[in-house]
Amino acid sequence: MSNHYSLYIDGKWLDTDDNYEIRSPATEELVATVAKGDVSHVDAAVAAARGAFDEGTWRRTPPAERAALINTVAERLAARTEELAALQSRENGATIRITGALHVGLSAAQLQYVAAIARDYEWETTGPAIEPVPAAGIVVREPIGVVAAIVPWNIPLLTTVWKIGPALAAGNSVVLKPDEHAPLLPLELAREFDAAGLPPGILNVVTGDGEPVGAHLSGHPGVRKVAFTGSTAVGKSILRQSADSIRRVTLELGGKGANIILDDADIEMAVDGALFACMANNGEACEAGTRLLIPRSRRDEILAKLLARASTLRLGDPLQPTTHVGPIISAHQRDRILDYFEIAKAEGATVALGGGVPDGPGFDKGYWVEPTIFVDVTNNMRIAREEVFGPVLVVLTYDSTDEAIKIANDTNYGLSAGVWGSEENALQVARRLDSGMVWVNNWHVIHPAYPFGGYKESGLGREGGPHAIDEYVEEKFISIDRSGGIENKAFAIVIDPAV
Ligand code: NAD
Repeated sequence: MSNHYSLYIDGKWLDTDDNYEIRSPATEELVATVAKGDVSHVDAAVAAARGAFDEGTWRRTPPAERAALINTVAERLAARTEELAALQSRENGATIRITGALHVGLSAAQLQYVAAIARDYEWETTGPAIEPVPAAGIVVREPIGVVAAIVPWNIPLLTTVWKIGPALAAGNSVVLKPDEHAPLLPLELAREFDAAGLPPGILNVVTGDGEPVGAHLSGHPGVRKVAFTGSTAVGKSILRQSADSIRRVTLELGGKGANIILDDADIEMAVDGALFACMANNGEACEAGTRLLIPRSRRDEILAKLLARASTLRLGDPLQPTTHVGPIISAHQRDRILDYFEIAKAEGATVALGGGVPDGPGFDKGYWVEPTIFVDVTNNMRIAREEVFGPVLVVLTYDSTDEAIKIANDTNYGLSAGVWGSEENALQVARRLDSGMVWVNNWHVIHPAYPFGGYKESGLGREGGPHAIDEYVEEKFISIDRSGGIENKAFAIVIDPAV
């Protein structure tokens, strides 16, 4: 059973001369075909978005009505959780254990949350009287214009709603470019916005290759803001592209999350938590905990428990509820991971678990990598510094808490970190980590009311949280004379009222 998806431009579904075939990374079966856009479609989508913005229907719609429409879409998504979760698992191989709750459930909750904060948002505030001029002041928060939203394949729906939820709530127009490997849920979301009555041109979707389609969109002179999730390399190129026009940019990029087990941790819990941190979503998560830092004094005990638990991980069909880890999105990404295995071994790391491609029934088709653990790793090795984006954990040892913190912070990234131990000790360590998110005795806790994003090269700005809408508005200060003209004391700087 497969389905066809079109581009969505100016409220119309549009087919093109060429299609992507979306195939399951577990079975290589055809899941859907998707119209393949090119740069001319980006031009058409940006023109439609700009036209709809200038025409003004959506941005002049009262915020509560915009919020109500977003809420309708959230409810429709929530009602379709099971169906969309299965579609997501078939499309990108994320396991059904995570696609329902995280990919679809959290996306619906995120839209509901943004609708709620949009209702209470201070779209316009009156400030204090301005003396001695005198004047009154108001601050108006208005939409920026055309927003380009560019999203990846690993968690496509959540990374989409993080952007288009607040963008639409604020009255912007959007051109969304899903990843060419996993565009289906963003396109399903567009179907729901269309059905809910979003005016034509306010949301447009162009599925196309990163180069040239994504780059054409992010550099388009008609785009006033780019919101991007993906690799740090592309994030940097978007930032460079945006310099000339001072385009607004938010970036959610890579990570190399350090997960510190303290001396006083509950080891059973910490070991299970470490596997959850690293292997959830097949390890294809920017916030994954990929560097496990353990005290040298307890190395053997922790490693024995970690390897015993890790060897029970079930790799296989992502649609089976019993599966813990599914396939890798593509042959390219699988080969990239396998290359890292060779690099790690050449640099002196030792494979303690996995380290290859599984064989046997169920693995003859698709793209697979065994859940893998490396030991004898030092923080200068590439396997400890670069984002591998697969079910791969590296274990490092430390001698003191200060050293653990130093190793954790010794990275160009700063998205996520975790600490396992007594709450008092773990919290002290958490406060010293250079990271946008720190989880104490848990991991992957993502909630609409809390910000998601990173320090350093992990990004710019935050998604979600109470300030999500701030990233999608311009602030305008309007000052109004309250002097009656001639009494305005400021004029006296150049005009002498006595003359
Ligand atoms: P990517 O950054 O190339 O792709 C992400 C999105 O950007 C896709 O929609 C893609 O089409 C688009 N894109 C690609 N090149 C572009 C350009 N020059 N200008 C504008 N848009 C462009 O990521 P990838 O190739 O899918 O994965 C490579 C690595 O990136 C992964 O191994 C992983 O390390 C990292 N990654 C991180 C995240 C994350 O959530 N932070 C997500 C996906 C990938």
